Amino acid sequence: MIVAMQERATEEQIDAVIDAMVEAGVNVHRTTGATQTILAGVGPTANLDTGKFELLPGVLYVHRISSPYKLAGRAFRPEGTVVEFANGAKIGGQKVAVIAGPCSIESSEQMLAIAACVKKAGGEFLRGGAFKPRSSPYAFQGMGIPGLKLMHEAAREHGLMTVSEVMEISQIEPMLPYTDLFQVGARNMQNFNLLRELGKVRKPVLLKRGIAGTIEELLLSSEYIMAGGNYEVILCERGIRTYETATRNTMDIAAIPVIHKLSHLPIVGDPSHGTGRRDMVPALAKAAVAAGADAILVEIHPNADKAASDAAQTLYLEQFEQMVVELRAIATAVGRTL
Ligand code: PEP
Ligand code: MN
Repeated sequence: MIVAMQERATEEQIDAVIDAMVEAGVNVHRTTGATQTILAGVGPTANLDTGKFELLPGVLYVHRISSPYKLAGRAFRPEGTVVEFANGAKIGGQKVAVIAGPCSIESSEQMLAIAACVKKAGGEFLRGGAFKPRSSPYAFQGMGIPGLKLMHEAAREHGLMTVSEVMEISQIEPMLPYTDLFQVGARNMQNFNLLRELGKVRKPVLLKRGIAGTIEELLLSSEYIMAGGNYEVILCERGIRTYETATRNTMDIAAIPVIHKLSHLPIVGDPSHGTGRRDMVPALAKAAVAAGADAILVEIHPNADKAASDAAQTLYLEQFEQMVVELRAIATAVGRTL
């Protein structure tokens, strides 16, 4: 950590800060400049509350250098994490993966039609919500485990893996036989009890960024899962809430390269929730691939306008097929395949 003192800080104030740093167990290296004194603290600063140093008299600012997350940090696995699945699919490798399906599972016919389309387009994962976190308690809440079974059957018929959201601890066990990748939704990014429990599961977890979650908070949330021994965590940028109202959320494309720099975990782009608008989804999907996303997660439906949830952001199957062709060109341009 670096503590920069104010220009007019007195010797007493500087000594008091040094004492506080030493007391916290860090070695202090002092640099006395012509106008300003800088104190560099080396040692166990990762879990230190740097805020308390900021309050000391004479301090200008405090800057933390080492990250508060360890297992999620790039240094833990400099080569990057690749999560592998039973159908041979990988997320985090050279190939950009495609995860597609409806927001909500509605019927067997719907899932079979979508699974065939995803397979034909070259996708590897079928997504679908069985437990839906709806903003209104009166909106469709999902088909639950019977729906998940329908998705699992459709996926297996086409050699696809399944992705579905888990909203609470009690759903993990019944979902296990039908779920290849557990999704933690934006609303649960900081449901720490759920994250801890998923740390004990031996299946990969797709952790979505919360609408008000910073990148550091997302990485700390992933640390909860990894601390339990489950290192198969995949992060997802799905848009955050800003003052902009033209789109449902503001898709933070910059989060993709930032996360690649800070962490070894793969990162998925979700342009469906990222924009909330069908007409904007392909543009943001392309931007995400160009920015280095390891997979694209997208909502599709044969009768998109009639989808039980998130209809406005759901692509028709033909639109999805066309988008995948375009994504492939972008992937090639940035040295990847799709
Ligand atoms: C979803 O994937 O359908 C979903 C509810 O996503 P999010 O948690 O990002 O809103
Ligand atoms: Mn949705």
